[in-house]
Amino acid sequence: MVHFVGAGPGAKDLITIRGKELIEKADVIIYAGSLVNPALLDYAGEACDIYDSSRLNLDEVIEIIKSAEKLGKETVRLHTGDPSIYGAIREQMDILDRENIVYDVTPGVSSFCGAAASLQMEYTLPGITQSVIITRMDGRTGVPEKESVEALSAHGATMVFFLSAGDTKRLSDRLIAGGVSGDTPCAIVYKATWPDEKKLVCTIKELPEKAKEYGITKTALIIVGKAVAQSGYELSRLYAPEFTTEFRKGNA
Ligand code: SAH
Repeated sequence: MVHFVGAGPGAKDLITIRGKELIEKADVIIYAGSLVNPALLDYAGEACDIYDSSRLNLDEVIEIIKSAEKLGKETVRLHTGDPSIYGAIREQMDILDRENIVYDVTPGVSSFCGAAASLQMEYTLPGITQSVIITRMDGRTGVPEKESVEALSAHGATMVFFLSAGDTKRLSDRLIAGGVSGDTPCAIVYKATWPDEKKLVCTIKELPEKAKEYGITKTALIIVGKAVAQSGYELSRLYAPEFTTEFRKGNA
């Protein structure tokens, strides 16, 4: 059987208990070496065969899985963050379906949650925005026109850009072209929750220069929107003293 496991954003103790137990029991681990913290492999047993998928293509990954299956072995396919976000798991699961290989998926803490924790920020501040847009700028992989940086900018929601730290000048220009004010706060979080994490808050205008100053070109998230300032919001209704909820009577 194959277990797709979310490794979490980086810190060794931010994998789920289920994910850790699957690693401990695995006969074979295929991990995304470009982004998964190798410290997580410390949980693996001594006899476990470990492969770094950053050096493999899809066919090679599938071959390793098929060989393990023939020997009745358990394989863990370890993906960074949560596998559902830019994880390229659908294509693997479709092949496993065709090969009649059974699999399951264990979620992980996505890096966008790790980054919010590092920044100690709340993405959805009442009175500012109630939405988070998880997206990326187009690169070698295209993005549908309706989801272009310019189009999504119109919403005023908090935006989290994955896979976009390589060209912060283009991102900044396109946000401004989409109507986001150059003074809008943004944050860059490099290797969120790893020991060598770097983070900074600046404005959209300053983004390219700050990314350069900090030497950040990859393994980073860029978070954009008024919520990054973490001020000027309204208090939640949920905890308002006068507000009655299903569980609590208000004092109004
Ligand atoms: N499935 C992953 C995302 C994989 S795409 C998740 O849920 O987080 C790879 C991109 O994710 C990187 O280019 C970077 O933009 C982001 N990323 C992954 N781990 C990160 C981390 N610890 N800190 C900041 N960004 C990270």
